[in-house]
Amino acid sequence: MRNDTLIKRDLAVLWHPCTQMKDHEDLPPVPIKSGNGIWLEDFDGRRYMDAISSWWVNLFGHANPHINAAISTQLASLEHTILAGFTHEPVVKLSEQLVAIAPSGLKHCFYADSGSAAVEIALKMSFHYWRNLGRTRRTRFIGLSNGYHGETLGALSVGDVSLYRETYKPLLHANITVPSPDCYFRSAGESCADYSRRMFEPMRQALEQNADSVCAVILEPLVQCAGGMRMYDPVYLGLLRQACDEYEVHFIADEVAVGFGRTGTMFAIEQADICPDILCVGKGLTGGYLPLSVCLTTDDIYAAFYDHYTAQRAFLHSHSYTGNTLACAAALATLDIFRNDDVLNRNHALAEHMARAIAPLCDHPHVGEVRQTGMIAAIEMVKNRGTREPYPWQERRGRLAYRQALERGAILRPLGDVMYFMPPYVIKPEEIDRLAAIATEAITTATAS
Ligand SMILES: *Cc1c(COP(=O)(O)O)cnc(C)c1O
Repeated sequence: MRNDTLIKRDLAVLWHPCTQMKDHEDLPPVPIKSGNGIWLEDFDGRRYMDAISSWWVNLFGHANPHINAAISTQLASLEHTILAGFTHEPVVKLSEQLVAIAPSGLKHCFYADSGSAAVEIALKMSFHYWRNLGRTRRTRFIGLSNGYHGETLGALSVGDVSLYRETYKPLLHANITVPSPDCYFRSAGESCADYSRRMFEPMRQALEQNADSVCAVILEPLVQCAGGMRMYDPVYLGLLRQACDEYEVHFIADEVAVGFGRTGTMFAIEQADICPDILCVGKGLTGGYLPLSVCLTTDDIYAAFYDHYTAQRAFLHSHSYTGNTLACAAALATLDIFRNDDVLNRNHALAEHMARAIAPLCDHPHVGEVRQTGMIAAIEMVKNRGTREPYPWQERRGRLAYRQALERGAILRPLGDVMYFMPPYVIKPEEIDRLAAIATEAITTATAS
């Protein structure tokens, strides 16, 4: 088998996600034959560094021996079982461990199979909670501008990335969008913390004016990932927790992307030392192996649904593969690695290395900002460095850079014109250096004319 053969067969029968299929006329999909650590290899023997963790899911490399073994062992006894009326050991163990590592106060785990499904669950759970309490006027949610929570209709309704949302607007339910504390827009000389604090004012006003009709605020703690890896200060999360308490509105933390160490702590909200009412996680939960997501919530929310069957308060939401056994085994193996390899501490050194490696890009004539939170680093390509004027989107500079990086053996799939690193935690310092060199060449070439 060669790349060419598989590409031809692929294009005859596949329709790829997040893709204008016509783009494949000049840049075909890369057929991957195998993976090992941070490397993926195609059928022609070319290797690529997976600098974006295969869409932010992979934590400990491809073909990780420990996770492979855990899945194989589980496979020998049980692959999957219905979770309504039944249970299994991996899902019980995983729930115990998640409750133990999550901010204290989160005591109950409700499973699904994707980040979007977890967000749907969080929205329905919050709405239903208020309904069970007799507060039926509460039907809306507050989200942040440039927020992203997935692409099913409910999740799109609380998101604000126009690329994904605009076309489907007529299908979405109404909600309230509040300006993001995105520190890219802070004034010259203003600290991220000051800007984030200042940007809390519109949120406070929205809560004050709409508390009667709002179920919850949903946001991505610290990094708005799909919105271009835009970052803000933890102070915002602390203020939001206080205000949600004051106005009796739920706080939903969507950590589908930033959970499991990406921002430096196990969960991003730990950096504000607060506990949300619902925490959504997915992506890295299984180390990037199998689809699994979960909403963790409080005794208070759980109790509002707990009653005689005839009281009709039960939370009715179900996906066929809820709490899949193999996926839970992969998740347990992933948590083992966190515990056994002192991952979060070792990541501090890696994150510092990453900061040093990309620092020279700050001076690049077509870079508007270099920013980083933990193991996520982003480089904003702009037309004019002084004014931060962006390139016209039609020029697709990000795609040019992507192509350049791919030719040099790195998968750096930008978000618009934002190039970013979100590598698996098994990346080595010298590989980070190589990645930075490739990114620099790719950006320089893509912005050359
Ligand atoms: C990716 C993502 C989702 C959606 O997860 P899927 O598994 O792709 O459905 C939701 N929220 C955030 C913050 C994400 O980054």
